[in-house]
Amino acid sequence: MINKKKGRVFSGARPTGKQHLGNYLGAIKNYVALQDEYDCVYCIVDIHALTTVKTTKDLNQNTYEMALDWLAAGIRPEETIVFIQSQVPEVTELHIFFSMVTPLGKLTDLPTFKDKVRLQPQNINYGLVGYPVLMAADIALYKADAVPVGVDQAPHLEFAREVVRSFHHRYNTNVLVEPRMKATEVPKVLGIDGMQKMSKSLDNHIELAATPEETTRRVMMMVTDPQRKRRSDPGDPDVCNVFSMHKIFTSEVEVEKINFECRRAEIGCVDCKRLFAGSLNAHLGPFREKRAELAQDPGLVWDILSDGQKRASLIARKTIREVKEAIGLPLSQS
Ligand code: SF4
Repeated sequence: MINKKKGRVFSGARPTGKQHLGNYLGAIKNYVALQDEYDCVYCIVDIHALTTVKTTKDLNQNTYEMALDWLAAGIRPEETIVFIQSQVPEVTELHIFFSMVTPLGKLTDLPTFKDKVRLQPQNINYGLVGYPVLMAADIALYKADAVPVGVDQAPHLEFAREVVRSFHHRYNTNVLVEPRMKATEVPKVLGIDGMQKMSKSLDNHIELAATPEETTRRVMMMVTDPQRKRRSDPGDPDVCNVFSMHKIFTSEVEVEKINFECRRAEIGCVDCKRLFAGSLNAHLGPFREKRAELAQDPGLVWDILSDGQKRASLIARKTIREVKEAIGLPLSQS
């Protein structure tokens, strides 16, 4: 049973396997913090992944690794519901009901759909068109009051709100909850190339679960202030990705010192990166310990996901029953 806090938050992420610093700073850290104020429902959206993945052979392992990282980072399954989207099939029912109140033209006009068409012209499947409708169903099924989103994701949530409103209007009901946006600052985390967003596919990432040695090796590859060619050149921390990361993981006093010394060429980039690797490894220490502990019993993560599925199903079944009633469909007696 969920203890009511400020309301219920829902968020989902595709099963992308071992998580990296970008995932941590962009989502996981916030997921962990939200637990203090909200009842949280976090979903591994494997059905969504099917719209774009080329092969499903890693789906299972990627789901496991991602859940393991979430738990090691501080998601508390005794209070938060963590589950796999495809294990609660009611979401596909709600998706179908929502599809009847969503104009097709609106879906094909969405910039995200156009992007997908551009990225995978050889596979413009029906699921890609209905993607935002499934997302609206994800949120509405669990009657989430709030969804944490960054500014660039705001149009998606607005779309979900519209779908809920259309449903309410079409069937003259208010059985669902129109989710509000919980504006979240999502920092743009650059990869070790210092240019593009951190991403596994670009191989510019730093994995949370990497060993300290591997982490240090990746940090030492980080691009710094591109104008600083020699050790004797003064640097500009304001344009340096290593410095941006220092501001997150290194103590304020140390950051001030680096800021001062870099501008006077009193510290070299190699030493600066070594300092950052130290800060990052210190920060990730407890995470790695917890991860290793959880990984000792692989069944544990699956048990947690199964428990999440049971708790999510209770909410989902109730919502679907209310939705069918509101539509006027005959209800099953069982
Ligand atoms: S010394 Fe540090 S902050 Fe300055 S450019 Fe080098 S890596 Fe960046």
